[in-house]
Amino acid sequence: MDEVKLVYSINEPEKLLLYMARVSNTKNQDSGNTKLIKYLIDNKHWSPFDMIPFGFEIVTCRAIQEQIIRHWSLRFQIFSQRYAKVEGYHVYPARMQDPVSRQSSLTCDNPEILEWFDQAQREVNTLAQKKYAEALKLGIAKDHARFLLTMGSHSKIYAAGSLRSWIHFLDVRDHEHAQWQTQEIARGIKTILMDFVPHTAQALGWMSVNDE
Ligand SMILES: Cc1cc2nc3c(=O)[nH]c(=O)nc-3n(C[C@H](O)[C@H](O)[C@H](O)COP(=O)(O)OP(=O)(O)OC[C@H]3O[C@@H](n4cnc5c(N)ncnc54)[C@H](O)[C@@H]3O)c2cc1C
Repeated sequence: MDEVKLVYSINEPEKLLLYMARVSNTKNQDSGNTKLIKYLIDNKHWSPFDMIPFGFEIVTCRAIQEQIIRHWSLRFQIFSQRYAKVEGYHVYPARMQDPVSRQSSLTCDNPEILEWFDQAQREVNTLAQKKYAEALKLGIAKDHARFLLTMGSHSKIYAAGSLRSWIHFLDVRDHEHAQWQTQEIARGIKTILMDFVPHTAQALGWMSVNDE
């Protein structure tokens, strides 16, 4: 299944954030007063958030990866289907078409549909992976054999970007209009960020932390 892991960040990211934000206030540059973070967010003063790096590993399928890499302010390293053999695929539970929003889906509570969709994905992917393996055996290049694979085929990316980019990524991807699997990835990233930038998370309404 899909997974998110933190690959890197810096020590005390909010300390650096405040230090950057107080560039013109050198006397108080090391101040631990975190109230400034909410002020920055409320006033859309985003540039200090651009100074704080985070890198994540995201394991998902090609269809979901495609959505994530649209965030042009993030930087990516992507598992190469030209260089390496693709192993495996992701099977997701069926979700039903939202009759109101074309790009939203709803929980499926029909066991027959759930079972049918699970089986259909396994059947199609088993055939696709079998033909893919045959193509490789025939000496067909990996970058051509991959035309046989499905959008559910396994992939992995490293995604790096500033806290600013992650905040806005989460704004649109931890949102009911985003695809369900992308929402889950976004929530995984948000959970990790909450530990690293608790005052930012609180100011954005992600969580509440005790007053210091
Ligand atoms: C629900 C949904 C449906 C979509 N449907 C389609 C589709 O049908 N076809 C299609 O081609 N694309 C679609 N997209 C992709 C979308 O159009 C964007 O390409 C994608 O979300 C990347 O966003 P971005 O360009 O803002 O890049 P990002 O990298 O997220 O942002 C670019 C820069 O803008 C900043 N930024 C972003 N938001 C703010 C903000 N609110 N305030 C201040 N700074 C901000 C970021 O920090 C970053 O520096 C969809 C996206 C979503 C979430």
